[in-house]
Amino acid sequence: MAAAPAAEACSSNPGRPLLGQGVQALERWAVSHGQAAFRGRQLHDWIYAKGVRRLADISVLPKAFRQELEAQPPEAAGDWIGRSRELHRSIARDGTTKLLLGTHDGLSLETVGIPAEGRLTVCVSSQVGCPMACRFCATGKGGLQRSLATHEIVDQVLAVREVMDQRPSHVVFMGMGEPLLNIEAVLEAIDCLCTDLGMAQRQITVSTVGVPHTLPTLAERALARLGRAQFTLAVSLHAPDQRLRQELIPTAHAYPIEALLEDCRRYVAITGRRVSFEYILLGGLNDQPVHARALARQLRGFQSHVNLIPYNPIVEEEFQRPTPQAVEAFRRSLQEQHVAVSVRASRGLDADAACGQLRRRLEATLEPALPSRS
Ligand code: SAH
Repeated sequence: MAAAPAAEACSSNPGRPLLGQGVQALERWAVSHGQAAFRGRQLHDWIYAKGVRRLADISVLPKAFRQELEAQPPEAAGDWIGRSRELHRSIARDGTTKLLLGTHDGLSLETVGIPAEGRLTVCVSSQVGCPMACRFCATGKGGLQRSLATHEIVDQVLAVREVMDQRPSHVVFMGMGEPLLNIEAVLEAIDCLCTDLGMAQRQITVSTVGVPHTLPTLAERALARLGRAQFTLAVSLHAPDQRLRQELIPTAHAYPIEALLEDCRRYVAITGRRVSFEYILLGGLNDQPVHARALARQLRGFQSHVNLIPYNPIVEEEFQRPTPQAVEAFRRSLQEQHVAVSVRASRGLDADAACGQLRRRLEATLEPALPSRS
């Protein structure tokens, strides 16, 4: 555990922060504060390339202007960068680094940096908590507090870069929350990561358990906002049929698997991109050969990739981890049925790897920095 760096924090409702805004908007902000437009480009460099946390620390800005900004409350005119505070850091033996970040309104969220040869993947949250209540997921146990704003998503990537002293190469929306309940902020954050931090859309993955009628909206909004939809869409399927799926994912009651797969086809038609499917393997429940065969039938004719995720145990549930033999048999069965398949390696198990676990474990100790429960 390391010391948390100091950061800007304000308790009331602040204006729109500068993080998340592009160079032109920052130029306009500079001009609106009586500064030359090029100050906006300096701000951009300091906020994104240097990762500065406080406007007062941008030493290239005129001293009088910095003093002026320091003197007034940040919420007055959106004069704040919008970085979060680090509440806790947990580093696994394999280098996987999980951060608990605090928002300006006292909520907390998880973000994880996962190093592998030549890459650093940041697993970002799109919401504080999650309303989807998937039975195997720790985040779902506490319900939803609120969706994250654009800057709070981008901030997670900057926080991991700062702590791990390495440029993130990939971003996956697989932390807390359901991204399809926060489409605009997710797309705006992707835009910012690509335009302002220089990432490639193809290195970004958006993962969803499925929200009725939102996949075609995501595709259309992505084309409208980003000009193209080249990020990967990953759909958490987790079962080959509706009966088993709704047992594991209560919200699936309102979204039959056939309708979900039809929406995936529409997504492919609109974006021209393949869809990946995630399939959590729960020992004895959905990891048998019969499930692999049913899954392959369900995905026949679908240009897709299946990512198998062995279950990470959470304290609230009695699910079993699948045996290594079951995982391998499932993988081989899909492969034999011509389904492209991979198995996700478990990373950072000793750092509460399952989504939402760190936050839940620390809730007791970090009060009152964490939100109260109703
Ligand atoms: N709401 C989105 C993204 C967040 S969860 C979604 O459901 O896709 C990201 C992935 O982690 C999902 O595939 C989810 O099913 C999986 N996951 C959640 N809890 C898990 C656990 N205990 N073990 C393994 N995978 C888990």
